[in-house]
Amino acid sequence: MYGLKLAGLEAQEKRTEFKVSDITVGRDFLVIAGPCSVESEEQVMKAAEIVKKAGANMLRGGAYKPRTSPYSFQGLGRVGLQYLKKAGDAFGLPIVTEVTDTRDVFLISEYADVLQIGTRNMQNYSLLVEVGRCGRPVLLKRGMNATIEEWLNCAEYIMKEGNHDVILCERGIRTVETYTRNTLDLSAVAALKELTHLPVVVDPSHATGRAEMIGPMSLSAVMAGCDGLEIEVHPSPKDALSDSAQQLDEEGFDALMEKVRRTIKFRESLYE
Ligand code: PEP
Ligand code: MN
Repeated sequence: MYGLKLAGLEAQEKRTEFKVSDITVGRDFLVIAGPCSVESEEQVMKAAEIVKKAGANMLRGGAYKPRTSPYSFQGLGRVGLQYLKKAGDAFGLPIVTEVTDTRDVFLISEYADVLQIGTRNMQNYSLLVEVGRCGRPVLLKRGMNATIEEWLNCAEYIMKEGNHDVILCERGIRTVETYTRNTLDLSAVAALKELTHLPVVVDPSHATGRAEMIGPMSLSAVMAGCDGLEIEVHPSPKDALSDSAQQLDEEGFDALMEKVRRTIKFRESLYE
């Protein structure tokens, strides 16, 4: 379907699985957690400690931030990558970070275990080609205005370059609704299971923009059949330099992880 030669189920019946350190993506449930932005060494170290203790298996944090306003915090760049890597190493967590520019792919590949393509760059074809050649797995977020067909074709761009280690991330789309930052399209998770063998992760943080909604949306995403979650966690959300309203604190993330584990068990019991 959709002219997919690599990403479609027609190309490969077996679900994609690949290793990132000792995690098998596509089999082990992924929990990618950490701050929206890397702000300081101390902040990302503390965030890593919090997410590791609660049971996350990858650390996220933006060093190159694609912000709506050019006057907003743009990220720490290379030094941010260094802080993120140090925190990941300290707590045994592979790191996931966004690349926004073809010129940074090489540098970011030296630090990151997984390169993230953000919603604003989903259809940046030269960037997709470049990450297709970088030798690292890629987490491809859904464009906020993109159809599932367009999104899968972007995965195809990466795979066509020889990189088959692609994770799809549903992060909400633009609809008429304004109460939430975006509208989390959980039907996309079910649809993708019919269309592709690639693993699917859900980001309830950018989808809702509201910390109090992360819990219910995470558990719903698990029940919809996702292979993992990407969640923003900050040691002190009110002081965050970006996305303050949607980041969970230590207590919130601990409580959520307990419920996520129970929900995964329940889901498994349904399909035994
Ligand atoms: C992010 O995950 O840091 C991010 C900017 O998300 P999105 O591209 O989905 O807005
Ligand atoms: Mn964010």
